[in-house]
Amino acid sequence: MEQLLQQLNKSQGEAVQFIDGPSLVIAGAGSGKTRVLTYKIAYLLKQDLPAQHILALTFTNKAAREMRSRVSELVGENIARRLWMGTFHSVFSRILRTEAERIGFTSNFTIFDSADSRNLIKTIIKELQLDDKVYKPARIQSMISNAKNALVSPTAYAQSKEMLEYDMKAKVPQVKDIYKIYCNRLHAANTMDFDDLLYYTNRLFRDHPDVLAGYQNRFQYILVDEYQDTNFAQYLVVKQLADIHHRVCVVGDDAQSIYSFRGANIDNILNFKSNYPEARIFKLEQNYRSTQNIVNAANSLIKQNKGQIQKNVFSENAVGEKIEVASAFSDFEEGVIVANKIQDLRRSEDASYSDFVILYRTNAQSRVFEESLRKKNIPYRIYGGLSFYQRKEIKDVIAYFRMVVNPKDEEAFKRIINYPTRGIGATTVGKVTDTAQLHNISLWEVINDPLKYNLNVNAGTAKKLKDFHLLIDSFAQELPVATAYEIATKIVKESGIAREAYQDQTPEGMSRQENLQELLGGIHEFCESRIEEGESRVGLIDFLSEVSLLSDQDTDKEEEKEKVTMMTIHASKGLEFKNVFIVGLEEDLFPSSMAKSEPRGLEEERRLFYVAITRAENFCMLTYAKSRFRNGQTNSCHPSRFLRDIDKEYLKANTGVIEGGQGGEYSQYSQGGFWDTVRRNREEREELKETVRKETSIFEKPEFPQETAFPSRTNFVNVKNAQPKNPVNNNIGDIQVGATIKHERFGIGKIVSLDGDAASRKATVEFENAGTKQLLLKFARFEII
Ligand code: ATP
Ligand code: MG
Repeated sequence: MEQLLQQLNKSQGEAVQFIDGPSLVIAGAGSGKTRVLTYKIAYLLKQDLPAQHILALTFTNKAAREMRSRVSELVGENIARRLWMGTFHSVFSRILRTEAERIGFTSNFTIFDSADSRNLIKTIIKELQLDDKVYKPARIQSMISNAKNALVSPTAYAQSKEMLEYDMKAKVPQVKDIYKIYCNRLHAANTMDFDDLLYYTNRLFRDHPDVLAGYQNRFQYILVDEYQDTNFAQYLVVKQLADIHHRVCVVGDDAQSIYSFRGANIDNILNFKSNYPEARIFKLEQNYRSTQNIVNAANSLIKQNKGQIQKNVFSENAVGEKIEVASAFSDFEEGVIVANKIQDLRRSEDASYSDFVILYRTNAQSRVFEESLRKKNIPYRIYGGLSFYQRKEIKDVIAYFRMVVNPKDEEAFKRIINYPTRGIGATTVGKVTDTAQLHNISLWEVINDPLKYNLNVNAGTAKKLKDFHLLIDSFAQELPVATAYEIATKIVKESGIAREAYQDQTPEGMSRQENLQELLGGIHEFCESRIEEGESRVGLIDFLSEVSLLSDQDTDKEEEKEKVTMMTIHASKGLEFKNVFIVGLEEDLFPSSMAKSEPRGLEEERRLFYVAITRAENFCMLTYAKSRFRNGQTNSCHPSRFLRDIDKEYLKANTGVIEGGQGGEYSQYSQGGFWDTVRRNREEREELKETVRKETSIFEKPEFPQETAFPSRTNFVNVKNAQPKNPVNNNIGDIQVGATIKHERFGIGKIVSLDGDAASRKATVEFENAGTKQLLLKFARFEII
């Protein structure tokens, strides 16, 4: 016991040893809240409280696993195994299985994922003959989810004046009916959706006092981590369980509340004292995770939020390096900067790849980093999300590409024949496959002429197949003339993929939209770079061959254990890493444009940034790009206001980073790899570096607009439009060897030779700073001076 307590500081020790009543540990990041919970469990066990009487609730499964293994170290595995430890959803589904009959289910109930529930909602909307443009399934789904998390039953919903008025205003008065039918259908099928796991646990405890009493008795002590992010249903279930004995310990940090968009209620932490007037409150002030600089920087940031509980957090670790701020010319360059830095640090600090994390605001941002890390053979894994090219929406689009390029591609066919849904079911696909096998031809040939092959489908289905054939054909006809970007855009638009993604306003839907944009952005860059290299047209086939190579490399990497982690900031809660990169610190990305519209949203984004910085132990780097391809175009970006929120004395601008590592990677750019080729070369970077150096210093001139008067996105310069008005060669007919030109990217240069004629005429130019280049006159952007 002594030994156990020796590993804690004084306040932590007090918090651990207080076990006779409710307690709240409220403290800043890295101050040992999770450690207190872990040690408290060990302490309770040593006080002879049996493991099966302890309930510990964590926010993620990973956190639960880590806590259990830590407790095992302290008290032995045999005991730790018997603890009730897990996420709210996992613990309560376990309880519901035992008690299923009480609430009209049987214990083998199955759980719907989000897509399953959306499909059911769609079906119901159709059955009720409602317009699904008004009753958008995703929207209805999130309305139902909110109702469940607020514990509003279908009956209560239908009787609530407030709900009905809201729905009436929103022009969806029949949500109450959909909700009711939805619940009945789930119930009839003995299924629960995710929200039901909390909803029904609450119902169970409310309606069956004997059951509740049983669990109140079983859980003699209840501990909750990350309490600031609990929603009403979670809060209430804990309250019911602790109602008699009040032996509950919750830990949290109001400064890290980042889930209000999912109904988390920070008031749960603020009201703890009124719920339990006898509660003891413990504050922990010493941060053990991070260097002094990181802690101080994070403190100075969070001070900008008005609604925070005052906390004094300090570190006695080393002072450490200042937080580095790096500006990149583009999102692409941001990727290079981070990859270079990882490589440098790994060498200089003898670090392991697993000591690094790249944190971003949105999943779509991972793509650029995947490319830059791959380029340097740096192994990585994407946590809580699929690798970019493995995401469903990306695979779907790539399947279209494959089908357009090679209609005989059977796997691509099967993937998209009914995506987006066009009423061609599995039975039909089965028949097509059988017929194809019978005649030993491809699926594509069968649907080209169903009659000829006696395909046994009705006229309606035959027409649907034919329409699909025509659709793919219409794309294929563009192949010889259109660029990869043009045709990809056309496919995304005309296949219905874009429409489907844009109808969905849930967070998942938004992330799908971003990913699609990101894919198109990547193709756009790919085309531009190839053209600058002198190719006249970059087709879809060129792009596809590059992508196929990428996925091959992907599989090789899977075997390596030691990897850089990439994740969203939301997913990083509670974790720690030696070296942290927080990327995309730009207005409208972080803070996100949606959050900016309300002050509470902005404060939540700031808390998110606080969470990100406080993951770092030794090293933290913040990056932003000056231009980024998003929402279908390259936009110039402003550095995030959050950079300005951090006290300058803890930051240093890193002008050196854009020089890149040893230079080796730039020579690779010329080898024509996919992202390699993206519009860069060493000389060009020299030029960029100079520009960036001039423009970067956030310390010298206030580049950051005031929060109150921040310009809207529409005021931003569109980089494309900002380029010189006479981009191309209207006087190339006059061009002569010896002429001096000014290229928009490479600067001043002299023509040393001209080759080819008319459309394929190329100039070899010696630039003052950018070395010698071959430019295809048709496309090169320069003027003669
Ligand atoms: P977060 O708010 O990010 O969830 P936290 O408050 O839960 O952070 P912990 O993760 O428990 O903080 O602790 C941060 C780090 O500091 C961990 O590596 C932990 O082991 C270490 N630590 C905490 N307290 C002590 C201590 N008294 N002595 C040594 N190390 C400690
Ligand atoms: Mg923690």
